[in-house]
Amino acid sequence: MNSYEELSLYIDGAFIRGDGRHEQDVFDPATGNVIGRLPHATQADLDRALAAAQRAFESWRTVSPVEKGAILRKVGELSRAKEIGRNITLDQGKPLAEAVGEVMRCADHCDWHAEECRRIYGRVIPPRLPNVRQFVLREPIGVCAAFTPWNFPYNQAIRKIAAAIGAGCTIIIKGPEDSPSAVVAIARLFHEAGLPPGVLNVVWGVPHEVSEYLISSPIVRKISFTGSVPVGKQLAALAGNHMKRITMELGGHSPVIVCDDADIERAATMLAASKFTNAGQVCVSPTRFYIQEKAWDRFMARFTEATRGIKVGAGIEPGTTMGPLAHAKRVTAMAEFVQDAAERGARIEVGGERLGQTGNFFAPTILSAPPDDAKIMQHEPFGPIAACVPFKELDEAIRRANSLPYGLSSYAFTGSSKNALRIQNGIEAGMVNINHFGQALPETPFGGIKDSGMGSEGGTETFDGYLVTKFVTQMD
Ligand code: NAD
Repeated sequence: MNSYEELSLYIDGAFIRGDGRHEQDVFDPATGNVIGRLPHATQADLDRALAAAQRAFESWRTVSPVEKGAILRKVGELSRAKEIGRNITLDQGKPLAEAVGEVMRCADHCDWHAEECRRIYGRVIPPRLPNVRQFVLREPIGVCAAFTPWNFPYNQAIRKIAAAIGAGCTIIIKGPEDSPSAVVAIARLFHEAGLPPGVLNVVWGVPHEVSEYLISSPIVRKISFTGSVPVGKQLAALAGNHMKRITMELGGHSPVIVCDDADIERAATMLAASKFTNAGQVCVSPTRFYIQEKAWDRFMARFTEATRGIKVGAGIEPGTTMGPLAHAKRVTAMAEFVQDAAERGARIEVGGERLGQTGNFFAPTILSAPPDDAKIMQHEPFGPIAACVPFKELDEAIRRANSLPYGLSSYAFTGSSKNALRIQNGIEAGMVNINHFGQALPETPFGGIKDSGMGSEGGTETFDGYLVTKFVTQMD
């Protein structure tokens, strides 16, 4: 096993090391040690990636879905989950089992896109004249630019790549500079699987410089971004200036409604596991917990007990169930959320502080009863903090759940199908999970509404953002 991924650019089928380019240090968030050096693309590199993607598109668009699917399937088979997962743990921090699991689940994404790309159908529209035929064709949009984040560095990248190339597009991806090993590993897998040069290109750099350059290029026809709401809005505005298609997977502040008729023990146990996955750095992490009054004591007792059982440590250590935060700046952000809530009268039930002086460790934290105007109830923490508040009536909980501009995921626990229906109809979110966590599968659409984004990844919707519609009418 290599000590760490050999970091490089991947342009027109070639892996390119530093060779005098500016290089950025990559850190292990558990120790603060430098583990790699990442070369930044020069403007000439970006131009070469654009030219390669444009050239490759002319032939890739004509490749049959069976051949495209064969490459995608091979990538899934080749995935070196243990090695790639270990490198993700080293540069991102999550526990090894989570990192390896992320890579293994992505084989399923490849497999599913491989199969689904055979079903990119058009349609025939009945004509008004007997000698006319009318068709609707769906064609690949062209060269895509994608920008993916550090929290699921493998998953976020592979979903965009599989959708783009399955649809017949070519793609230039800028992954997360802080946690880059996963995207380089993906490029190696596609290379080994026989993807033609230029279909996939990987570049690195100063994020806003790279995105502004690529989005402004007339070669790029589609933008896909996963990250924060403010950056998503900037990129969407820039894409709008150039009339380019977008898919935006942005932040969330997922509400959880626990009704007093739910299986409270089960809900609290499942929620503690889900909340602290990836140290809460998950866009669909449950975050605002609305607990019906009669269930409050039972829920809090189990939820705090399960949270106290979380073992925080370096992701590489056996037995660790929560690793460090990916960045030092997130530790400061967590401390600010806790301080603000405490000043406004919230109780710190568990955690609430930084752990140790080395690495970016913050304790799994539960706050109870912060007011609705506390920062934690208004802004996505993107970290290991759960804020719990009581409610009386379900309508009140739904209203509070909908009160923010976010609309990504949502969760509810209830034993009543009537309540489940009210929640399903009333919640403003792209995803509603009732009595379990069932999202982010390859066959189900993943995406947000309101400020949380535009478009879906996965499900039969997965190729929509990468296709254009062409109407053809023909008279004999
Ligand atoms: P951020 O938006 O600054 O960065 C997220 C990712 O986008 C990073 O990988 C970054 O390199 C990249 N990025 C930043 N500016 C960019 C630009 N102008 N052009 C192209 N790429 C750019 O957020 P952050 O501070 O790194 O992370 C915290 C916030 O990010 C959270 O509040 C959360 O909302 C959001 N986030 C969301 C997801 C998600 O899955 N939706 C994933 C990661 C981060």
